[in-house]
Amino acid sequence: MDNCLFCKIIEGSIPSKKVFENDQVLAFYDIQPAAREHVLIIPKKHISTMNDVTDEDDQVMAEIFAAARKIASELGIAESGYRLVNNCNRDSGQVVFHLHFHLLGGEKLGPLN
Ligand code: 5GP
Ligand code: ZN
Repeated sequence: MDNCLFCKIIEGSIPSKKVFENDQVLAFYDIQPAAREHVLIIPKKHISTMNDVTDEDDQVMAEIFAAARKIASELGIAESGYRLVNNCNRDSGQVVFHLHFHLLGGEKLGPLN
C-alpha cells in the first residue's frame, strides 16, 4: 500500500526496532512509548482499520493475539499485566491507518479514558 507508514516499516524502507516477526505478523517498539513497555503488533497485510477486518482475516487475527501473548511473556509482563488496545477511526484518535494493536505494560497503567 503506497504511502502507508506501517507498510513501509514492513518493507524495511523505514527502520523499526523489531520484537517479533512471522509470515503474517510484525511487532516493533512504538517510537513514542506511552508506557514502560509499548509494542505495536500489526498484520503484514494492509488492513486500514478494525472495521475492514473480514472473515478471511481470521488466521491473521489469531496470529496477532498469539503474538501478543508471546511478546508479553518474553517481556516478562504476562503476570504483572498489560493492555492490548486498538484505536479505530476518528473518536479513538487513530493516526496510522494500518491496523495495529498497542501492547502496553511494564508499569501500573492509568484509566482507559
Ligand atoms: P494510533 O494513534 O494510530 O493508534 O497509533 C499510532 C502509533 O504509531 C502511535 O503510538 C505512534 O507513536 C506510533 N508511530 C508513529 N510513527 C511511528 C514510526 O515511524 N515508528 C514507530 N515505531 N512508531 C510510530
Ligand atoms: Zn499499510
